[in-house]
Amino acid sequence: AKYTIVDQDTCIACGACGAAAPEIFDYNDEGIAFVLLDDNEGTAEVAEDLYDDLDDAMEGCPTDSIKVESSPCKVLVE
Ligand code: SF4
Repeated sequence: AKYTIVDQDTCIACGACGAAAPEIFDYNDEGIAFVLLDDNEGTAEVAEDLYDDLDDAMEGCPTDSIKVESSPCKVLVE
């Protein structure tokens, strides 16, 4: 299983992740990314058919703000 979360403290609102994985990532009013699946809680399992998009987004993030874990990853924020 894969779970993902955006570290919004390091996201620079570049817009790359939503382009790579529009079903996973969207942006708030300030352009900072969040995970659509669970409002950036890091607790929703990513569907397997989205793994390729998720990898592209993670690899394309210029600030390594996209975390991918094999278990829920809430611990990474707050
Ligand atoms: Fe933020 Fe990274 Fe997404 Fe760019 S690719 S908007 S820096 S999370």
